[in-house]
Amino acid sequence: MTYHRQLNAVPPIPAATELPTGFVADTLARPLQELRISLTDRCNFRCIYCMPEESFGKDHVFLPQSALLSFEEITRIARIFVAHGVRKIRLTGGEPLLRKHIENLIEMLAQLKTPDGRDIELALTTNGSLLARKAQSMKDAGLNRVTVSLDSLDDAIFKRMNGAGFPVSDVLHGLDAALAAGIGPIKVNMVVKGGVNDREIVHMARHFKGSPFILRFIEYMDAGTSNNWKVDEVIPSAEVVRRIAAHMPLEAINSNHKGETAERWRYRDGSGEIGVVSSVTRAFCRDCARARISTVGVLYTCLFSASGHDLRALMRYGKSDLEISSVIAHLWRLRADRYSELRGMATKGMEREVEKIEMSYIGG
Ligand code: SAM
Ligand code: SF4
Ligand code: SF4
Repeated sequence: MTYHRQLNAVPPIPAATELPTGFVADTLARPLQELRISLTDRCNFRCIYCMPEESFGKDHVFLPQSALLSFEEITRIARIFVAHGVRKIRLTGGEPLLRKHIENLIEMLAQLKTPDGRDIELALTTNGSLLARKAQSMKDAGLNRVTVSLDSLDDAIFKRMNGAGFPVSDVLHGLDAALAAGIGPIKVNMVVKGGVNDREIVHMARHFKGSPFILRFIEYMDAGTSNNWKVDEVIPSAEVVRRIAAHMPLEAINSNHKGETAERWRYRDGSGEIGVVSSVTRAFCRDCARARISTVGVLYTCLFSASGHDLRALMRYGKSDLEISSVIAHLWRLRADRYSELRGMATKGMEREVEKIEMSYIGG
């Protein structure tokens, strides 16, 4: 697995340091609008498609605390990104709720304002196992939205997929707690892996139909290398929609905004909607406005980047906000990533592809 890949040398800082732009676009005219921050490389699950036990066993060495960005460093970077046009920050990992005192970080980030004085949107992705304990305090600290991963309602399948024996009921309690705390909207992500949990598609759809939770089906992606991804194990979103619609008729609806990762479908009887995220079969690179900061403060401009740029080093070597701001703008302007688009669907050869950075590290 790839963790500590050689970093790109930090590009020469442009001579005239640049004030935050409020708007910066890459080579494909995509604006910088969303930032995902990985808070920890640790997780209490061992999902077979993300951190399989064979690669992340008892002797796996996780990052020391000193390597992680501090809350002050995260907030400093986030402030600079917001000044360049970021409107939405998503906290992720690893399992972000394992990061101690996460509420303090949420409180710090919730105070950031866009250049035109608006609040940013603060979201979190979690496996839900600790959500029942944390939902209220995170809401009180300023969390707006949460996405909870849940791959099955069947305990045997779920335990097999999370690799750590966690029951479904823990996650369902977490969802109820998030709802009671007033966090919204709440989304539920199901990664569909052919032959493992695809028979749960209709069951999950039925369970969440008419509920306050928006269920989204995620195509199994070739992120990282330890999951030994095979294209045959991908169930295309079109097939997911077909299977659900055979029981509960669906119709396509417009996306909420440009760059939304999920395609939306609503039940014809008016009882809510589902989403499908087709990262493999219908890539959405064209509108991808997301940057990622890894657990150790490396900036990646694509989930599939082979290397990134070390912002932690800039901070710890005493660079000013203006200098860091210039580097970020410079890197975004150079960005040309469109991995999923180039991958296409007919690429069996991708299974032997070059090493990629694990999702738990770069931030899913
Ligand atoms: N631990 C948290 C969780 O599971 O929600 C946050 C981090 S996790 C890496 C973020 C999201 O990535 C989860 O919804 C997870 O299901 C998804 N994910 C991880 N590996 C994936 C893969 N190979 N293909 C598709 N989605 C994946
Ligand atoms: Fe942990 Fe999330 Fe990866 Fe599962 S998907 S192993 S819960 S980081
Ligand atoms: Fe964005 Fe890279 Fe994913 Fe394309 S492959 S949508 S550029 S993160």
